[in-house]
Amino acid sequence: MEIILDEGAGFCFGVERAMRMTAETTTVSRDRVVTIGPLIHNPQVIEELKKEGVEVVKEDADVHNAVAILRTHGVSPDVEQRLRQESSQVLDATCPYVKKSHQYADLLRREDYHILIIGDQNHPEIKGLIGYAGKRVTVINLPEEAENLPHFPKLGVIIQTTYPIEKAQKILAKLVGRITELRVFNTICDYTSDRQIAAAHIAGKVQLMYVVGGRNSANTSKLAEICRQKGTPTRLIEVPDEIDERDLENVERVGITAGASTPEVRIAGVIERLEQIATARALVR
Ligand code: SF4
Repeated sequence: MEIILDEGAGFCFGVERAMRMTAETTTVSRDRVVTIGPLIHNPQVIEELKKEGVEVVKEDADVHNAVAILRTHGVSPDVEQRLRQESSQVLDATCPYVKKSHQYADLLRREDYHILIIGDQNHPEIKGLIGYAGKRVTVINLPEEAENLPHFPKLGVIIQTTYPIEKAQKILAKLVGRITELRVFNTICDYTSDRQIAAAHIAGKVQLMYVVGGRNSANTSKLAEICRQKGTPTRLIEVPDEIDERDLENVERVGITAGASTPEVRIAGVIERLEQIATARALVR
């Protein structure tokens, strides 16, 4: 069985930075260390952080005498302001790509644009971003929704960092010609677009794809969606034990990719499990 791996898969720059900042703080801090929402979207990593004493708390939690770490997806300005007033220290682990979206939202709001956010309104990144956009904001997640938008004389667009490029292009194509002044900030992060392109490429060459990552991770789910759109059977798994050998019957080529919050050790575990299955299969033949 041949295994094709996206060599770039694993922790992205933003996740690596947040993990490093958290580890450094946990080592030196005498105060409680809390993250505002999960630091990253990977349940196994969050469990490991808990063992190191890092608690996950809600945005409205009591943070007195605690170091409050802002998650990679960021928080809204009012939440950050309260945390700065009440906690002993705020550590901003918001990914710089997400920070850039916040700055664009702020700019568009000040320049009197109606802001259109393309993304999932229930995702923490978008909830935080809405806080920067002010009152004149609309969120859409599907190309069809772009058709029902009212006319705006000035519309500024910001895209969720992990949004699929092709879907964003479809929405933008519908806006061109309908809006007098359209300003678009491409805020899809490079890591996300590279992974999406690689996933589609690998999915086109294999009989089965494994996407390794948290089920609560938007970028992981989107990778799985992209692989399925290629017509390739795809399994989203969090740990190697989830591999079902029956899926691999008659499969000679398998692909692997992973979300931005998936540690390399987990990807290595998946490869090891697949190699074990391949070896056992070769012995039976
Ligand atoms: S996927 Fe992109 S935006 Fe999200 S944390 Fe990683 S680098 Fe930042």
